[in-house]
Amino acid sequence: MPFLRLAIPTPLRRLFDYLPPEGCSIEQLQPGVRVMVPFGRRQLVGVLMEVVEQSDVPIAKMKPAIAILDATPPLPPQLFKLARWGASYYQHPIGEAISQALPVLLRKGDPCEYAHEHLWRAAKGAEINKLSGSAVRQKELLQLLIEHPKGISSDAIRAEGGQTSLLKKLEAKDLAESFIHHPNTERQIREPLHEAPLTLNPEQQEALRQIIAEDKFKPFLLLGITGSGKTEVYLQAIEKVIREGKQALVLVPEIGLTPQTTARFKARFNLPIVALHSNMTDRQRLDAWLQAREGIAKIIIGTRSAIFTPLQHPGIIIIDEEHDNSFKQQEGYRYSARDLAVMRASYENIPVILGSATPSIESLHNAQQGRYQWLRLTQRAGNALPPKFELLDIRQSALQDGLSSELIGQIGQHLQQGTQVLVFLNRRGFAPTLMCHDCGWLADCRRCDAHMTLHRKPLHLHCHHCDSQRPVPKACDNCGSDELKPVGAGTERTEEALLKLFPGFPVVRVDRDTTQRKNAMQQIMEQIHQGDPCILVGTQMLAKGHHFPKVTLVAILNSDSGLFSADFRGMERTAQLILQVAGRAGRADHPGKVVMQTHHADHPIINSLVSEGYLEFARQELAQRQAAQLPPLTNCALLRAEANHQSTAERLLRQVREDLEEDILQPQGVQWLGPFPSPMEKRAGQFRAQLVLQCPDRKALHRQLIALTHYMEANPLSRKIRWSLDVDPVDMF
Ligand code: ADP
Ligand code: ZN
Ligand code: ZN
Repeated sequence: MPFLRLAIPTPLRRLFDYLPPEGCSIEQLQPGVRVMVPFGRRQLVGVLMEVVEQSDVPIAKMKPAIAILDATPPLPPQLFKLARWGASYYQHPIGEAISQALPVLLRKGDPCEYAHEHLWRAAKGAEINKLSGSAVRQKELLQLLIEHPKGISSDAIRAEGGQTSLLKKLEAKDLAESFIHHPNTERQIREPLHEAPLTLNPEQQEALRQIIAEDKFKPFLLLGITGSGKTEVYLQAIEKVIREGKQALVLVPEIGLTPQTTARFKARFNLPIVALHSNMTDRQRLDAWLQAREGIAKIIIGTRSAIFTPLQHPGIIIIDEEHDNSFKQQEGYRYSARDLAVMRASYENIPVILGSATPSIESLHNAQQGRYQWLRLTQRAGNALPPKFELLDIRQSALQDGLSSELIGQIGQHLQQGTQVLVFLNRRGFAPTLMCHDCGWLADCRRCDAHMTLHRKPLHLHCHHCDSQRPVPKACDNCGSDELKPVGAGTERTEEALLKLFPGFPVVRVDRDTTQRKNAMQQIMEQIHQGDPCILVGTQMLAKGHHFPKVTLVAILNSDSGLFSADFRGMERTAQLILQVAGRAGRADHPGKVVMQTHHADHPIINSLVSEGYLEFARQELAQRQAAQLPPLTNCALLRAEANHQSTAERLLRQVREDLEEDILQPQGVQWLGPFPSPMEKRAGQFRAQLVLQCPDRKALHRQLIALTHYMEANPLSRKIRWSLDVDPVDMF
């Protein structure tokens, strides 16, 4: 009998050999099937990578696997290949990388099949009047069943106030029956559209023409200004794919997956669409995953992890708002769903569209190099016009809770004319911190190098970096004075100020604190879409992708906040955020205006951004990156380490660098920077340091990273501290 070589979800970067389980036949050993194995004292679910004839593990020491869990591999071959590629590219343990490509229930060893849910429905010919007049409860229950001809679960019956104990009685009278429900496995051939597509303008037509001309692998970068109708291009590209019997996978940013997004797809297509959102149970996710794999779901919309959704007939992949950071996982397996999407499209041999009004400098560079095909939409769709910008110099003006009197006047005008105003600032809470007026003491977090944010609703201090909270002190920790004052403004404070300034107009705050409750975002969106004059105050949650037809004024309170960031991507982020927020103004019949409060009204980059647009900004930014040899002109990886004591992490990283640099086999051209303490050295009680590796040659860097992870796994000190490797990091913290 041969041996099984398995990928097992552990932090170790290697495969593990096992004996086949007892009584298993050779046909069962297909690479890709899940295998339950003993691992230490636990049982884990691994995936069969290979069947081998030889092993370095002595036979006597080799354990038999417990069971083969699948008759056929759950992941289609292309996805299996993608998972392996990701593990290697990101130097992440293969077992974990493959496990993460599976739905949670499959990781746990559940069968790869639909839920067997028991549902109830009325029996054929059942009528209310077959029950005697006194059986009121039974009548109500039967009525409920009649109203749900496709079946209803016991839980749902209870939720509707029905008595499940009476179901058996109805069943005995042949009025009700139970059955096992399989979620939507029907295959229908029907007209795929609910509504007619819009007539495209010439630019949209040209973009669509190029996309649908392709049925092989081809990456497109769709650069379309906000409101230019990118979504309409996606919808029509998807329509073509669907008419060919294929499926579409659409990835959206984390907070972009709102009911409004799915509603647009559902309004257009008369087809099974699944949205993989965070409110789903593991069970619902597996069902959706199966529907995608079997080709029943035609359109799959999801956030980052949806890139691993299997498709029976893949037709196209779309990454909307491709510049968004949420496509990069920032912990554990640090993959970029956008980059994996391009890789996946090449394995599946299908087109992939990266769309944005403010593409990442990486993607623009790829387009300039000819690796991605350019598509441009330079006009707003329909009758909408681009918004007009005004830089409001606030250097000498007195601010009222962060609002200049000029801005207050403009907000009033727009409300009076009956439209909506959006006020953006990038900080939630009441104020960024609390200060002692007498001695200058600041309310700092005890576990981080950071100030704590003052919140009023409810009143407390909150660290946004480690999540620790404490009551607001009555007196200064340092001098005992009770003159504690909030410094600066967050969304709560702005909301309060606007309510006072404009009584009679609702103020809707949109930030992480107001949208946590289930359906909260939906309710807020419904209120905004009713269209009555109101003020929206919020963080970048308001910036992303939303279509607010009634917003005519966008106010950016602190346009300068990202200008002087330590991260080389600070300028790029600022530009993207400004244009995305600005893009919410004037998207329909009413012209839009954007007022930016700034202390740097003559800043050349800000001026060029608002007068010449994103592309010109991006050209300059790329030139600067070139001059400084920063990504995307070079490739970058970041080794982070953290320890309980200051300098321990740095010491380890220094040793890593010295040992590896001495190695004569070390690849040429890799540049080491650091170690440095991280920009926020102390976070959640841990002291953090980092080492940067850069190399224009991707292959050389990759070889170096392999040597690096080998070294880290072998080094005894590295077992005492936490370390992680981030390939193509999107933030340097
Ligand atoms: P983007 O995603 O580029 O920001 P959207 O796709 O949301 O833009 O389009 C903005 C608005 O323009 C939407 O209300 C959309 O229905 C409308 N729209 C898009 N294309 C057309 C078109 N060809 N004709 C008329 N209206 C259009
Ligand atoms: Zn004090
Ligand atoms: Zn903290």
